Amino acid sequence: MENEVVSRNFIENEIEKDLAEGIYDMVHTRFPPEPNGYLHIGHAKSILLNYGLAQKYHGKFNMRFDDTNPTKERTEFVEAIKKDIQWLGADWEDRLFFASDYFQQMYEGAIKLIKKGKAYVCDLSAEEIREYRGTLTEPGKESPYRNRSVEENLTLFENMKNGVYGDGEKVLRAKIDMASPNMNMRDPVIYRVAHMTHHNTGDAWCIYPMYDFAHPIEDAIEGITHSICTLEFEDHRPLYDWVVRELEYPHPPRQIEFAKLYLTNVVTGKRYIKKLVEDGTVDGWDDPRLVSIAALRRRGFTPESIQMFVELCGVSKSQSSVDYAMLEYCIREDLKMKRSRMMAVLDPIRLVIDNYLEGETEYLEAANNLENEELGTRKVPFCRELYIERDDFMEEPPRKYFRLFPGNEVRLMHAYFVKCVGFEKDADGRVSVVHCTYDPETKAGSGFTGRKVKGTIHWVPVPYAVDAQVRLYENLIDESKGVYNEDGSMNINPNSLTVVQAKLEPALADAKPYDSFQFVRSGFFCVDAKDSKEDALVFNRIVSLKSSFKLPKKD
Ligand code: ATP
Ligand code: MG
Repeated sequence: MENEVVSRNFIENEIEKDLAEGIYDMVHTRFPPEPNGYLHIGHAKSILLNYGLAQKYHGKFNMRFDDTNPTKERTEFVEAIKKDIQWLGADWEDRLFFASDYFQQMYEGAIKLIKKGKAYVCDLSAEEIREYRGTLTEPGKESPYRNRSVEENLTLFENMKNGVYGDGEKVLRAKIDMASPNMNMRDPVIYRVAHMTHHNTGDAWCIYPMYDFAHPIEDAIEGITHSICTLEFEDHRPLYDWVVRELEYPHPPRQIEFAKLYLTNVVTGKRYIKKLVEDGTVDGWDDPRLVSIAALRRRGFTPESIQMFVELCGVSKSQSSVDYAMLEYCIREDLKMKRSRMMAVLDPIRLVIDNYLEGETEYLEAANNLENEELGTRKVPFCRELYIERDDFMEEPPRKYFRLFPGNEVRLMHAYFVKCVGFEKDADGRVSVVHCTYDPETKAGSGFTGRKVKGTIHWVPVPYAVDAQVRLYENLIDESKGVYNEDGSMNINPNSLTVVQAKLEPALADAKPYDSFQFVRSGFFCVDAKDSKEDALVFNRIVSLKSSFKLPKKD
């Protein structure tokens, strides 16, 4: 379709229909994480989707902590989540809310339901409630407590609130339909007794609302128009609508579901990341091998790259899984023009230029990024002894190997042509030094056209080299086996982290946490913000330069 310039996702279509029909006159979205862990790339999709819709339709975006379950929630997570969302660029302005701030309204909502004869206190145990619920093929059975009078229910519910009962002794249930084909409508529990301290409200409450009851109330109170959530809540929508209707909110919000983002062979679920953290497989929620937002930031991903990724993924109703290579594609695209291309040797051997004056140094000009002149130039010291990559020399080269081998000439990046005239081995028989001669005529930028060489290699001057630890990553998961075993354990790749001691050109000595660079020929690297010290730099490889990923063709 040639005229179809803007491609809208299905949620945008629904929103535009609602606006056109006058059901809503503005768009108000929210992101409602439960503060029980760190956010991951899947949450980033939800954040950017909700924020993006508010932006697109000149509406509002709320940040709301869905903290109605005191068991797993912690203030540490609240702070981390705020930081992640800000970093991603989603701005909630002055609209930061906590579901727990609405406990009073939720309690009043429950009383309203009781008074309407739409809720009752039930004494069945959790197990009995499950039994009474029936199955997908059989209707449920009504609780013997279902027909308590309004007065009795009011008294019992107040007792629940006042701490008269122990955990699990009584619950409040919505009175809907035990024969409903939708199991969620079979008199769901909406309040439970839990004598627990809440991270926000302390010991003020010993009854807590259930998610399906609390969430629509939160949305309605805040004036949310489109309550966007993931597919597993599709079957809960009738209950969402029931709550909003029975509580008679004047501007009912509308729930719309989309498919969760999954990455193939990557752990995203909070529960599983938590396990990896707790058993020490990774060094925290921000270990660069994870896809929590904190981990991606630490590894060197940018908000722009994540925005681009989320956009490429699109929004759909059908479950699918995206290749990690697509995320790598996005960070490469984002960094390639923005970052300087520096020389770093990850597996060094020495190269000695026999005919270069000992003790002499010259400063060669190097463009920071040949594709982006705005990044300027720098000076790189050049001298008789250099480090080069071990695999840039071969004693007996295979066909089509154009780098150094005895008798061959290559270009040293930003410098001269050098010709290999010999090499030395250490006691273990490994090559330790390569000897070359250089040709002063061939200086880069001198306009030399006398002859051509097929290989260019990078180098770092030995006396000026900066030492750094460099961390190279592979997938945390052994991809040949898939992520999970039947017993719930994960297939961990034993080679997911390789640490090397690298030599860097001196301009990198001042690199600060989160600074990132291209190291020519080996990838993009970022200064590790957790372990790097001023005199002991640590770099994470964000991504290598090579990719097998092809952008899907748009039709
Ligand atoms: P997880 O179990 O992966 O940690 P969650 O759904 O328990 O996720 P919440 O804090 O409840 O985490 O989620 C906050 C919001 O983020 C919800 O609206 C949820 O639907 C959305 N969300 C969670 N995971 C994904 C995902 N993989 N892709 C897209 N949205 C997601
Ligand atoms: Mg959750």
